[in-house]
Amino acid sequence: MDVTASFLSPRRVTRQIAVGSVKVGGDAPISVQSMTTTKTADVEGTLEQIYALAANGADIVRCTCNDQAAAEGLVQIVPRSPVPIVADIHFHVEMALAALEAGVQGLRLNPGNLRKPEEIKLVASEARDRGVPIRIGVNAGSLHPDIYKRFGGATPEALVESARLELAYFDEVGFSDVKISVKASSVATMIAAYRLASATFDHPLHLGVTEAGPLPGGLLKGTAGIATLLAEGIGDTLRYSLTADPVEEARAGRQLLESLGLRERKGLDLIACPSCGRAEVDVIKVATEAQAALNALDVPLQVAVMGCVVNGPGEARHADLGIAAGKKRGHLFIKGEIVRVVPEDEMVEALVEEAKKIIAEGVEARLLARDLTAEAEAAADRALLLDDRGTDVNHAQERIERIRRRVEHEGPD
Ligand code: SF4
Repeated sequence: MDVTASFLSPRRVTRQIAVGSVKVGGDAPISVQSMTTTKTADVEGTLEQIYALAANGADIVRCTCNDQAAAEGLVQIVPRSPVPIVADIHFHVEMALAALEAGVQGLRLNPGNLRKPEEIKLVASEARDRGVPIRIGVNAGSLHPDIYKRFGGATPEALVESARLELAYFDEVGFSDVKISVKASSVATMIAAYRLASATFDHPLHLGVTEAGPLPGGLLKGTAGIATLLAEGIGDTLRYSLTADPVEEARAGRQLLESLGLRERKGLDLIACPSCGRAEVDVIKVATEAQAALNALDVPLQVAVMGCVVNGPGEARHADLGIAAGKKRGHLFIKGEIVRVVPEDEMVEALVEEAKKIIAEGVEARLLARDLTAEAEAAADRALLLDDRGTDVNHAQERIERIRRRVEHEGPD
């Protein structure tokens, strides 16, 4: 975990459960989940998607188990999956039992869908006997009608009450291997519901804003809800619910945790300045090209693309590697130190080459291998740029003279 995570509120202590090989809650790393969009009966297609999700940061993957063919598909999928599989049960108790029979490592039950107490207890007993955890997945959109009526809507209190009632059924059969989610599509409702759930239960919490929608709005809504709670120390596992390729969900979850310092960086973190009038290059173009080239390498580095050499290397001195543009040249820097100056049209190539070398040799070795003339060349470029643009961008002397003339003419109050 990154030291910056210690600037967040301390993580609330929850009991720990195990979803197959992945621990959830307690001091376990916060895990990322996503859900397949294929028909679960399509074993090869589903496995292909599961592998893509795992490669992009998913620790646990959920598959729908909505009919017998899906349950039979799970029998083949579970042993070949690189990550634990959770089955989502919709309305039928038979599907929950079939998924357990298929060997899944977790179940998700929606208390609004599976409503009969004897069926809930039957599933909990089977899960208990097999050592399989269940997520009580409350959803504002499918809240149990009795609770909806009692609370006058899908309020945070209503969502938490739904989870509490389900837990009570589980308690009756001595089952407590549970995580809980209280999702809503309203970010404010979801935040309030999870805060209340965190104060009410000591079970691990699965965070998410449900039905967040397509990109980029879905990402924003998901992040607004999930990040707010994580910063308060709430949450043990998460899922972005996007109307997009589920790989985007896995990537977003992983990137969010990495950006908060809650998981170690696994892949590239490309930072780039927003560009401004001082930019010496098309920052968007260079950043996009660099991202595509470096993503292909899958390097766990923070790489900066900065629009000008005057401010760029300093502003991005924390980056492992970066490039800043100026005078038709690129200043390549490692941890803010200029190591090479390259022609502008070789900037992306130089970044990729240096990233490979850093991975192979390490940052210290690459700093020692720097071009000893680079810093002087870079300093000359910076000086020229400052001369060109002038440090007096506000035309100070002219303005001062105008102020003086005005004050002298009009006199003091
Ligand atoms: S690095 Fe340079 S171009 Fe980019 S925003 Fe900062 S001043 Fe502007």
